[in-house]
This record gives sequence, C-alpha cells and structure tokens, in this order.
Amino acid sequence: MIDLRSIHKSYVTGSNSLHVLKGIDLFVDKGELVSIMGASGSGKSTLLNVLGILDNYEKGEYYLDGQLVKEMSEAKAAILRNRMLGFVFQSFNLISFKNALENVALPLYYQGVSRKKRNKMALEFLDRMGLKEWADHLPSELSGGQKQRVAIARALITKPRVILADEPTGALDSVTSQEVMDIFQEINAAGITVIIVTHEREIAQRTDKIIRLKDGNIEEIIFNQHLQKAAI
Ligand code: ADP
Ligand code: MG
Repeated sequence: MIDLRSIHKSYVTGSNSLHVLKGIDLFVDKGELVSIMGASGSGKSTLLNVLGILDNYEKGEYYLDGQLVKEMSEAKAAILRNRMLGFVFQSFNLISFKNALENVALPLYYQGVSRKKRNKMALEFLDRMGLKEWADHLPSELSGGQKQRVAIARALITKPRVILADEPTGALDSVTSQEVMDIFQEINAAGITVIIVTHEREIAQRTDKIIRLKDGNIEEIIFNQHLQKAAI
C-alpha cells in the first residue's frame, strides 16, 4: 500500500538547509495499523506530510498503491489524495462557523455531490460516530472527543483507503484518547490502513507496529504481536 525507498527531505529557508528525513525505508501493507513515535522535531509530521502528498521530497521513491508519487502536479496529487487518503489532526481543523453535519459533508461538496446526498451521507457517518444528535451543533459546542469524532467522520466520508493521523489524541484526556483509539481500531478492522503519529505509549501499544524515528532515521520497528507473544 505504502512503499518508501530511501526518502530524503530537507527544508530550505534562505541560505539554510535542514536535512529532516535522511533515507527513510518503510513498507506499510494494506490493512495495517501503524504508529510513528519519536521525539519532538524527529521528523514525524514531515514524514506524514510526505505520505499524504502534502509535501515533496528530494531523493528516493514513494509508491502509493503501486503508483510513483514524485514531482506530481498539484492537480494530480489532489486527485490521488481525494481518492486514497483521509487526514486527522491534533487540532481537529474543523470550520468554526459550520455545524458538525456541514463539516463532515464538506469533502463531498468539493467532489460535486448534491446537497441532499452529501447531507444524508454526513448524517450516516455522524451516526456511526455516535453523534447523530449533535449534527446541528457548532464545534464550539462540542467536547474535544466529540470534535475529533466529527473530524474522523469527515476523513472517512470519501471512503479513503488510508487514514493518516498526526497526534490525533494530543489534545485529549487519557480516557477520551482511548475512546478515539477504539474508533481507529474499528476503522482498521473494516480494512482501512491507519497510520498514527503519537507521543503516547498507550496509543502506540494498540497498533500492530511501532516505527521509531530518531533524527530523521528509522531507529527501530517494533512488532507488537511479537512483543505480546514474548511477554507471555
Ligand atoms: P515532529 O513532528 O517529529 O515534531 P517535524 O517533522 O514537524 O517534527 O519537524 C522536523 C524538523 O523540521 C524540525 O526541526 C522542524 O523545526 C523542522 N521543520 C518542520 N517544518 C518545517 C518547515 N515548513 N520549514 C522549515 N523547517 C521545518
Ligand atoms: Mg509533529
């Protein structure tokens, strides 16, 4: 599903260049639930942005579902993103003056889906998140956990094959974090590949595989099944 080969990325500002990803090799199979851990500044968000075709890289190859993602036009990248990927962020990124239903329906608006159909689908996805009763509420009227569930519904509504989440529980208390993680596990059980950047061990331990980044390199990959077996 995702195949990175020796990916290098630098940020250039003025005459300075910061080498952030230093030769990342990573394979994520269809249907895997993966976490990316590492200290602040180790390149986690940069890696997720490359995976999400939100940013370019200089060296290496990135294959998404067999297709080489390299020096793509913005139009082509947008098509691939819309067809394949869903995004979830720490700060939810909901539109404050639109209600929950409108936020969830928004990606369908951009796809030219009729208002009636997109509202019907948005209500279905909110219902799946247990938020049907909250459809006409603004984000400011929702708790953090509810906001993140709205954001997850919005990410799912285009039926992506891969969900990319950057510290999705970073702004939530530990109980709510575990509830959001329950949702990611359900999504994954339905066959969607899920990649979660997280600082929290309790979150990472609920994924199949933990990728540890250190200074722009993969330091180690921990397979949780093996860990659990080893512990028995
Ligand atoms: P993490 O998500 O692991 O905390 P990031 O990928 O956000 O790390 O950042 C890695 C490094 O790249 C940091 O030193 C950060 O300051 C730098 N960086 C991130 N984004 C940019 C940018 N747009 N321009 C310049 N430097 C950046
Ligand atoms: Mg980050």
